[in-house]
Amino acid sequence: MDTYNVLIIGSGPAGLFAAIWLERLGVDGIAVVDRKAYPAGGLLNDGKLNFDYRIGMDLNALQIDSETAAHWIEVIKPYFTRFPQCRQVTVVDENPKIEVLRGIAEEQGVQFIAPEQWHWGTDHGKSVVDYLRGHLKKTTFLLGTEVLSIVKCSDGRFDVICRAHRKKAVYSADVVLAAPGRSGAYWLRDMADKMEVRHHFGPIDVGIRVELNRRFYDAVTDHVYDPKFIFYTSRHGDKVRTFCTNPGGRVRAEDYWGFKLVNGDALSGRKTDNTNFALINTVSLTKPFSDTTEYGRMIAKQFLLLGGGRPIVQRVGDFREGRRSSQSTFNSSTRHFGLCKATFNATPGDITLGMPARIIDNLWESLKKLDKIVPGILHPSTLFYAPEIKFFDTHFPTDRNLETNMSGIFVAGDGAGKSRGIVGAGISGILAANGMAAKYFGKREMIT
Ligand SMILES: Cc1cc2nc3c(=O)[nH]c(=O)nc-3n(C[C@H](O)[C@H](O)[C@H](O)COP(=O)(O)OP(=O)(O)OC[C@H]3O[C@@H](n4cnc5c(N)ncnc54)[C@H](O)[C@@H]3O)c2cc1C
Repeated sequence: MDTYNVLIIGSGPAGLFAAIWLERLGVDGIAVVDRKAYPAGGLLNDGKLNFDYRIGMDLNALQIDSETAAHWIEVIKPYFTRFPQCRQVTVVDENPKIEVLRGIAEEQGVQFIAPEQWHWGTDHGKSVVDYLRGHLKKTTFLLGTEVLSIVKCSDGRFDVICRAHRKKAVYSADVVLAAPGRSGAYWLRDMADKMEVRHHFGPIDVGIRVELNRRFYDAVTDHVYDPKFIFYTSRHGDKVRTFCTNPGGRVRAEDYWGFKLVNGDALSGRKTDNTNFALINTVSLTKPFSDTTEYGRMIAKQFLLLGGGRPIVQRVGDFREGRRSSQSTFNSSTRHFGLCKATFNATPGDITLGMPARIIDNLWESLKKLDKIVPGILHPSTLFYAPEIKFFDTHFPTDRNLETNMSGIFVAGDGAGKSRGIVGAGISGILAANGMAAKYFGKREMIT
């Protein structure tokens, strides 16, 4: 049996940065396991970086204050920005347009955040991963290897049971860092149940992806590439926000556990005529049913059935009239639908059949406000794709080093509810690496 000091599950930003930091701290015997053949996780997607602690990070979950978060952002930033194709797309300082936008949003009772943003584009994803992996000199990658379960042995070590190329493989490790991302969140909670690692359900984000002719949004995105508008609805008092805006981008499918969800990205060079963004509603559940993951899966399943195996898309013109979109009129010029050519092949239908009324109310109320801030976004040709669901809702209580109630089991990244994006995931990996190196390998924490 191969033996390691640290075994990291997941090679996304959380896992990769944990490995980079452990090597810097002088810890030997590190292995990164990933079920995929190429180690990257979500780093292959788009690569919009928000260098702002208000975006993509949960300071409570990470147990850090805003000043510490800002420090870690400065530490991780050069790892990305030194990559030649990563370019700054939002410069916050001294841009009067941003203040004007903030004022217009405030008039509508909407909060507007413009973070410092950089972008490399999906077409550079592989080169970024190769570049980041270039920082690793000693780490072993066990690829095409899916972790099935973890067993704590009587000597305190862990047996990590895997399936590699259809064969069983068992690795032994002193310490395990679970960073399996959103796609591994369901597995992680099952594993936690079996091992009696404490976890609970947090809020889940459910909504739609909006795609429109970019001419309506350029006035905003020319200044803030990925503008964050936050709404609190008057009807239900719920939180809705814009997220992951892609000027000149495309709508994409995400496959989770057999369900088809929507997402979006952009290439660095070749642009489309459209802009897309997510509009998501934060949903919290209490007794008698608090399992937000199952709730999200239930919605995803309805859309899978309604869309015949594909996400559903509806034109704003049809949505307003209360009718489904259909193939025969999808590009109708008499209905002014020609102005926005869909970049993703979803099934024309009715999103209100699959989405709870409360969420539809919240999204529509928010969109009407957004249309006052950015006139034209509710043109009849604009498209609503559903479902867009963010599965970072399972939370693991940890100490400040991200160690769970089971000694030797650490968690990081989106799958453990510690982050909601590349930068936050990377920082959570670094925090976990610092913690385990100090506690288990006698190294001093490194903060720069
Ligand atoms: C289309 C799309 C666009 C996105 N665009 C952006 C963006 O522009 N900016 C941004 O900040 N974020 C973006 N994101 C989100 C971003 O990808 C995630 O927030 C980030 O990757 C989370 O990092 P992570 O390390 O926690 O998990 P991941 O990056 O998801 O990595 C987890 C890894 O664990 C592996 N794994 C899971 N389970 C197991 C198992 N049982 N055994 C072995 N391996 C396993 C997976 O194969 C995966 O490689 C986007 C996501 C998508 C889908």
